Amino acid sequence: MSLQSSRIAALPAGVALRGRRALYVTPDPEPEGARIWFFTRLGGVSRPPYDTLNVSRKVGDDEGAVAENLLRIRGAMGDRPLSWVRQVAGDGVVEVSEGGFAGEADALITSEPDLCLTVGVADCVPVALVGEEKVGMVHSGWRGTLAGISSKAARRMGGGGLKAYIGPCIRQCCYEVSPELAGEFARRFGGAVVSGRHLSLPGAVRRNLEEAGVEEVVDLGLCTGCRPDLFFSHRKQKPVTGRSLAAVARVGG
Ligand SMILES: [Zn+2]
Repeated sequence: MSLQSSRIAALPAGVALRGRRALYVTPDPEPEGARIWFFTRLGGVSRPPYDTLNVSRKVGDDEGAVAENLLRIRGAMGDRPLSWVRQVAGDGVVEVSEGGFAGEADALITSEPDLCLTVGVADCVPVALVGEEKVGMVHSGWRGTLAGISSKAARRMGGGGLKAYIGPCIRQCCYEVSPELAGEFARRFGGAVVSGRHLSLPGAVRRNLEEAGVEEVVDLGLCTGCRPDLFFSHRKQKPVTGRSLAAVARVGG
């Protein structure tokens, strides 16, 4: 553990903080046959308000700092190749077989071992899907959640026998939306996902995953709004903040 991590408040049960430079949280125990990295904001070189492990070149951060952050992140992921998309808050799912830019989409799936599927987040829900032969990574904001992107990705992977891992995201405690949007979510996913105007995006994602027959949904239970010590939050750190990387890969053995 680095010095940095000794200043971090407690984590929920079932979550481990790992990494030597770029720090990430991951389910503990980790799934069989896959690795999951939900990177924190810790262990990079960006200055405030991007401090420190920002991965986005579109938020005004220094280009050299982002490049160094990505280098550290790649190191934490064993220097495996990585695949990324231009996220458009839609419901597009792309299947990839090699590293590099994979077009406009908000979910990636692959059967290729040691290929890291990545999305960038700062409040939106990152969902890692792990099957026997494929893995998937989903970026699910409110639009994508309403459009059912997690279930679409799960169905593309074959539906049954999947496990899903809901990463750090903004939770009901910190996410107030318009009455109209709260009503739309209640109609779509049931009244339990809203409390007044407070929306549980991870709760809606869980319902959506269950609709697709996902066998087990593990929610890491971390709120980006409540934990500025660990995560960027687009809502809580206005007007500008960084983005974190979330990734999954199949691993041999
Ligand atoms: Zn919160």
